[in-house]
Amino acid sequence: MDICIVGGGASSFICAIILRKRGYNVTIVEKNNSVMKKLLLTGNGKCNYFNEDMTVKHYRSSNKELLNNIINEENSKKVLDFFESLGIVPRIKNGYYYPYSNSSTTIKNLLLVEAERLRINIKTNTKVLDIIKNDKFILKTTNGDITCDKVVIASGSSASIKNDDYNIYDILSNLGHTIIKVVPSLVMLVGNEKYFKEWAGIRSDVSVSLYENNKLIKCENGEVQLTDYGVSGICIMNLSGIVSRGLLNNKNEELRINFIPFVNNGKEYLENRSKLHKDLTIIELLESIINYKLLYVICKKNNIDTNKKYNELTNEEKNKFIEDLFNFRLNITGTKGIEYSQVVSGGVSLNEVNNHFESKIINGLYLIGEVLDVDGDCGGYNLGFAWISGLIVGEEI
Ligand SMILES: Cc1cc2nc3c(=O)[nH]c(=O)nc-3n(C[C@H](O)[C@H](O)[C@H](O)COP(=O)(O)OP(=O)(O)OC[C@H]3O[C@@H](n4cnc5c(N)ncnc54)[C@H](O)[C@@H]3O)c2cc1C
Repeated sequence: MDICIVGGGASSFICAIILRKRGYNVTIVEKNNSVMKKLLLTGNGKCNYFNEDMTVKHYRSSNKELLNNIINEENSKKVLDFFESLGIVPRIKNGYYYPYSNSSTTIKNLLLVEAERLRINIKTNTKVLDIIKNDKFILKTTNGDITCDKVVIASGSSASIKNDDYNIYDILSNLGHTIIKVVPSLVMLVGNEKYFKEWAGIRSDVSVSLYENNKLIKCENGEVQLTDYGVSGICIMNLSGIVSRGLLNNKNEELRINFIPFVNNGKEYLENRSKLHKDLTIIELLESIINYKLLYVICKKNNIDTNKKYNELTNEEKNKFIEDLFNFRLNITGTKGIEYSQVVSGGVSLNEVNNHFESKIINGLYLIGEVLDVDGDCGGYNLGFAWISGLIVGEEI
């Protein structure tokens, strides 16, 4: 049996290797001049390829039930065994898996070595332009037609690629699939405030809550980076998929940031500290906890004289100051866009594939990885889904 895999990225290679080991003829068709280009960028070049805590709570999709069936210990173990079989030694940091070398090139090289050893046919510089299904499949490509018995779509998404001519959604839509509107996820969030120039460059350990139309949706803890366009950092990226979809549906998206998350009662904390350090101005009182530039922003925003001591503030000034330290409200107007995002939210509806990722619309067509409507948190979850879905299709065919 001849099997063609569209795309030469993460999900493609695990699937191809498993299929080839079972004796099938496998061809990977890749539009770029080399395979796994995106994989090399992952984890800042270190490739965070998996996570110890592979559970469905880290994902968003139109079909969480299907995800729940496949994101489990058994499949995670199979993926980790597969990596071990390639000769990849993991380095696990706070549950995040990296190759011990801390280099994504290691993962690419060892996948390629195995693919070459198994004589998997890899056609680079070959873009799939259309897919026709008769008795067999015919792939129309920039290098002529390819005929095969089964097709696996492993084409990823256009996330992070500038001016990309990503065409797979059109091809799949012509074949009858529903494409859930694609929006950026794992991306920086943008606002429209004058003080952004002043807080740019500050990093702070915070607790940040996302409110949609004033309703609490999700809370994340971690380092936020304050920038001249808005906010970034892993905790922000993990909220960004929900924000993108909310903005698409005209929802009011607001972040509420607690800049001193280790304190339970802000008012009491400030009263006590100011009694202990009577001579310190409000900036001096807090600058060992919060970057002084941020304290200046908060004071300026509320017309508070930075030379004042805490007990010299009026009650109204105290309330505003405390509110901004512990519940800073930031209206989000957009994201930095798909070309800056690590993944997309949306894609081919997960309701249109069965538990083995075969299309319910076209027999013999399989879909794996990011082309599907599944997006995960930062932490190895997106590659995690790519490997697991690729492995399942490899085993199923
Ligand atoms: C900067 C960055 C950092 C990231 N870091 C992490 C991380 O640390 N951990 C993590 O889990 N995830 C990370 N991700 C996300 C992760 O890279 C993707 O989710 C993952 O690569 C998806 O795998 P895939 O196989 O679905 O698609 P891809 O790996 O994107 O592969 C798809 C391939 O299909 C090819 N293709 C597309 N259309 C066609 C066509 N018409 N014809 C032929 N070929 C085609 C593409 O050129 C591409 O090579 C990161 C992403 C980015 C951009």
